[in-house]
Amino acid sequence: MIKNLAQRITEANQLLAPYAVPHEGTLGRVLPEPPDATRFPFQRDRDRIIHSRAFRRLKGKTQVFISGVGDHYRTRLTHTLEVSQISRDMARTLGLNEDLAECIALAHDLGHPPFGHAGEDALDTWMKTHGSGFEHNQQSLRIVTTLDHRSSQYVGLNLNKEVLEGLMKHRTPFDKGAEGPPSLEAQIVNLADEIAYTGHDVDDGLRAQLFSLEDLSSVPLIQEVSQEATENDTSLRGALIHKLVSDIYTVGAVDPVEFSESLREKLDALRGFLWKNMYLHPEVLKKANRGKEIVIGLCDHFLASSSEKVDELIQKHGCERFEAVKDYVCGMTDDFAATTFEALPPQQGDASVH
Ligand code: MG
Repeated sequence: MIKNLAQRITEANQLLAPYAVPHEGTLGRVLPEPPDATRFPFQRDRDRIIHSRAFRRLKGKTQVFISGVGDHYRTRLTHTLEVSQISRDMARTLGLNEDLAECIALAHDLGHPPFGHAGEDALDTWMKTHGSGFEHNQQSLRIVTTLDHRSSQYVGLNLNKEVLEGLMKHRTPFDKGAEGPPSLEAQIVNLADEIAYTGHDVDDGLRAQLFSLEDLSSVPLIQEVSQEATENDTSLRGALIHKLVSDIYTVGAVDPVEFSESLREKLDALRGFLWKNMYLHPEVLKKANRGKEIVIGLCDHFLASSSEKVDELIQKHGCERFEAVKDYVCGMTDDFAATTFEALPPQQGDASVH
C-alpha cells in the first residue's frame, strides 16, 4: 500500500537540511497544475526534461571533440549524465534537494549549439551582428519555457520556477537580485559541471594523446591525485573527481558553496593546463574552426533564404527571423548541421568551404 503523496513529501522533507528547497517547492509552476498521483513536483520536472526532444539531441552534440570521431569521447549527453550523477551525490550528502539538483543538471546544457564551445562562440558572434548575443544557459531556459512542448495548454514544459531559476546560471551568488540568490541546489550543479568537465577533459585529452601523462604531471593537483589513484587502485579521473567533491564536503553547505581557497587555486592551474594543451591544440582548433564555419554558414543561409522550419518558428513564437534562425541552428546535432551545410546550394556552401 503506497502512502499518500502529501505524507511522503512531509516525511521526505524531514530528511532535508533547513537550507534545502523543500520537495513541494515554494515558487510553483508558471501555470498551476494539480499534483501528480505519485511523483514529487521535481520528479515530474525531471521526467519532462528527459522526455523532451532537446534532451535526445544531446547525444549528437560535441563536448570538445567532434562527435563520432571516437566511441569513448564524451558527448553532451554523457557529460550531462555525469553532471547529474555528481550533483545528486552532492545534494544527498549535503542534505539538499536531490530531485531539484537533478532537474537543473539534466537541463543545464539543453541549449548548447552543435560543435561545443566553438559553436557557441560562432552563434554569439553572429547574433551580435543582429544587436543581440548568445549564451547557452539562456537558450536552455528558452527551450524549457518556449521551444519544447508537451501540452496544448501551455508553451514549454511548465516546470517549477526553482528549476528555471537554477538555469539562469550566469547570476552568481553575489548578485542578490529581487528574487534572491540561486538556491544551494543550483550552486552545486555549477560546481558539479566544472568537476565533470575537468575530469572528463583530462580523460579525453589523454585518450586523444593531446598531451601525455608526463606533461600533465607538471600540474600540482594531478601529482596529488595520481598518488591517490595509485594507492587506491583507481583511475586518475575517478581520483580527481573524488578529490574535488570531497573538498566541497569539507567546506560544507554554506552559502555560497565553493571550493576551498587552496583547492580553487590548484584547480585553476589545471584548467590553465587544459586550456593551453587541449582547447588550443591545433587538432582541436582545426575542428573547432570547421564547426564555426558551419554554424555561421547555416545562419547566413537561413537568414537569406526561405525555410519551412524557420518560418514555422517565427509563426509559432512571434520572434524575429534572426532569432528563429538561431533557435533552428542551435538545436541541430553536429552531424545534422554538417550534412545540412554540405547540401546548401553551391554559392553559399562553396564560399565558406574553400
Ligand atoms: Mg555543462
